Amino acid sequence: MDESKIFLSERDMPQAWYNINPDLPAPLQPPIHPGTGQPLGPEDLAPLFPMALIAQEMSMEPWIDIPDDVMEIYRLWRPSPLHRAYALEEHLGTPARIYYKNESVSPAGSHKPNTAVAQAYYNREEGIPRIITETGAGQWGSALSFACCVFGIQCEVYMVRVSYDGKPYRRLLMNAWGAECYPSPSDRTEAGRSILAEDPDSPGSLGIAISEAVEVAAQADDAKYALGSVLNHVLLHQTIVGLEAKKQFEMAGDYPDMIVGNVGGGSNFAGVCFPFVKEKIDGERDIQIIATEPTACPTMTRGIYHYDFGDTAELTPLLKMHTLGHKFIPAPIHAGGLRYHGAAPQMCLLVSQGIVEPRALHQKEVFEAAITWSRTEGHLPAPETAHGIRAAIDEAVKCRETGEEKCILIGYSGHGHFDLAAYDQYLSGNMVDYELPQEKIDAAVADLPEVE
Ligand SMILES: *Cc1c(COP(=O)(O)O)cnc(C)c1O
Repeated sequence: MDESKIFLSERDMPQAWYNINPDLPAPLQPPIHPGTGQPLGPEDLAPLFPMALIAQEMSMEPWIDIPDDVMEIYRLWRPSPLHRAYALEEHLGTPARIYYKNESVSPAGSHKPNTAVAQAYYNREEGIPRIITETGAGQWGSALSFACCVFGIQCEVYMVRVSYDGKPYRRLLMNAWGAECYPSPSDRTEAGRSILAEDPDSPGSLGIAISEAVEVAAQADDAKYALGSVLNHVLLHQTIVGLEAKKQFEMAGDYPDMIVGNVGGGSNFAGVCFPFVKEKIDGERDIQIIATEPTACPTMTRGIYHYDFGDTAELTPLLKMHTLGHKFIPAPIHAGGLRYHGAAPQMCLLVSQGIVEPRALHQKEVFEAAITWSRTEGHLPAPETAHGIRAAIDEAVKCRETGEEKCILIGYSGHGHFDLAAYDQYLSGNMVDYELPQEKIDAAVADLPEVE
């Protein structure tokens, strides 16, 4: 096998998503209603999500058919290519074989449309005319704007203030697809107004923006909410990535010994690795799975494995996950998608069981890897994506030292074309590293809800 890109034909695209819930190595602790302290029922989520997505959220079926209308939109960019990174291998002088599954080819430039399209579809099927969401740097907001546009739904996005002001291009992309975008905290919601009363110059956070979007959706009759990560239905929509990759590895006559990627809420990495994880759980294959995150937001490496809220205003259900506390406000690092205080319960369970290995990285070493990548493989990765690239390079260098011929798969979650200001900062020598002080984590423990 010496091709540098492995294309799957549209005909061979997976026809169902994979749901890891029934295959988890230990029982998943259920989401808890913050008011009653009881496990959440479908009716609790009904104000926020269409019933089809609630059913997927709680499903114990391993396979969920992909609807034809979703397949049709997927085919605008799917199947995505699996590349072999020959130029990087040669540059590193490594015996490792490095592959990457390229999700940057979607209209929004990341993996996020894989779930945005599915979510917009199920909302349309249930006659919902409006979807409300939040976005950090704008990746999710733009993906959902695209998906809503395709299915004729109005999209309203609450965007974290620092990004709204500092990164206008993704906001403009949302507008191009017909969505409305507001800076968060805003004066349009109770949650936003109470933050502004305390700090009129609040830079905002994902937790605050979620509070605003949830509040608007819960109060409106004609609107639902959509989340771009963390929840099970989101993770399962993303498994199209790993399922395609599995078929492509079969075509290549190869198989990964190691899968590396980045975790913000955990959806893109779940998408890449969950279809492979079952073989590891069953003891059929010994795959090393490395999930990277920033040292400035070290959720899985240093967070507490405990129930916590998903948002700052304490409106969401409690999820059992690694958390830095729901009041966490991250340092202004450039991997905007990796600054969430928690992560998907399924991913956290696999971390707690030692199946997924978390690793925290400093942003300067991450950008250094991104530059090496762009000067060998050509593509300029998103800062989030570059975390996985850093880990892959480190592992490939270890292979050079030990002579091991490992096969490494990178989850390539998106391109960095909207992140050039961050590259400018790195290239001009003005980037700084952040390490979350332990006091902040200790202080967050005091705010955790009293549910074990
Ligand atoms: C949003 C985003 C991430 C992180 O989110 P996950 O849910 O963890 O996947 C990573 N990479 C890119 C390019 C993103 O847009």
